Amino acid sequence: MTQQIELVNNLLKWFSENKRWMPWRETKNPYLIWISEIMLQQTRVETVIDYYNRFIKKFPKIEDLAHASEEEVLKLWEGLGYYSRGRNLHKAAKQMVEKYEGVVPSSYKEIIKLPGVGPYTAGAILSIAYNQPVAAIDGNVMRVYSRLYHIEQDIMEKKTIDQVRYLVEGMMPIGNCNDFSEALMELGATVCTPKNPNCCQCPIQEYCLAKQLGKENDLPIRINKTKVTQHHKAILWIQREDKILIKKNKEKGLLAGMWVLPTLETQGKFKKIAEIQQEVDLSYGGIKINQYIGDEKHIFTHQKWNIAIFIGCCNKKSMNIEEEYQWLPIEELKNIALPTLYQKVISHCQSAIKE
Ligand code: SF4
Repeated sequence: MTQQIELVNNLLKWFSENKRWMPWRETKNPYLIWISEIMLQQTRVETVIDYYNRFIKKFPKIEDLAHASEEEVLKLWEGLGYYSRGRNLHKAAKQMVEKYEGVVPSSYKEIIKLPGVGPYTAGAILSIAYNQPVAAIDGNVMRVYSRLYHIEQDIMEKKTIDQVRYLVEGMMPIGNCNDFSEALMELGATVCTPKNPNCCQCPIQEYCLAKQLGKENDLPIRINKTKVTQHHKAILWIQREDKILIKKNKEKGLLAGMWVLPTLETQGKFKKIAEIQQEVDLSYGGIKINQYIGDEKHIFTHQKWNIAIFIGCCNKKSMNIEEEYQWLPIEELKNIALPTLYQKVISHCQSAIKE
């Protein structure tokens, strides 16, 4: 027990002396902590800071977010990726205003029911904002604990995560759970890094079993069962006078609810305009493909897209298009929320058109 207290104290002391500045560390406001934790999922701190500042400037209170339109929220999310996070944030804000009088719930049972809030986010909000002894177990914490306690089990397995949760919650110092939670994340992000951890600078090195055994680079064990699938796509810039054809994706699936350019799944890579023209004729009538302007690659979590980009035009005044399609004035492209990939493609197309 004494050893555990020493370990916690060493970690907290190190954190108070070494923590990086982040705007959300200036507050314990549960609404702001929640926003930051959702933005930080799968995204680097450096990227999140600007988005966070813009977001809370526009929506300083939960009611401001709840009363905004989805389009406004997604526009501010543009470029941050994983857009379902923005959409869920908006839905959760509405629920909190309707059901909890605009207060982020402080019980695990309630907070976990909110859209976009999983066990990690619930633990992070409850420990950081409400100072409760609830663990926030992310990849950083799993790595630190599997090394600290020399856990040789797959960290993707539920029983390993439960074991780490038990260990973390067993040592959370009452009254200082917020700093402890953040200190663990910080240690994983800056010292106990995935490759070549900086054990010499580590405040808990004398308690670390992996370090004693010289196995810090062998842990954690991670058996990745998710395969990345390869896809070939053709993305089309289709213009009619000063308008461009765009499409709103369905509410489910990859890039759900986002505006995109017409995109076709193709069998292998298209090299000739005639080949893509055939596909386009099958999907949309009245469109002529004029130019192939190049390739692009993009990796989503489980998909790799190999993309060929084409420019075409539509000379017909009316054309059979489904209701999710729309002709948008080109100058208004800047006002709608577009995924990063499509922003890149649009910029390629606009440069090609200018040449
Ligand atoms: Fe990680 Fe090294 Fe610290 Fe162990 S001693 S927790 S391996 S940084």
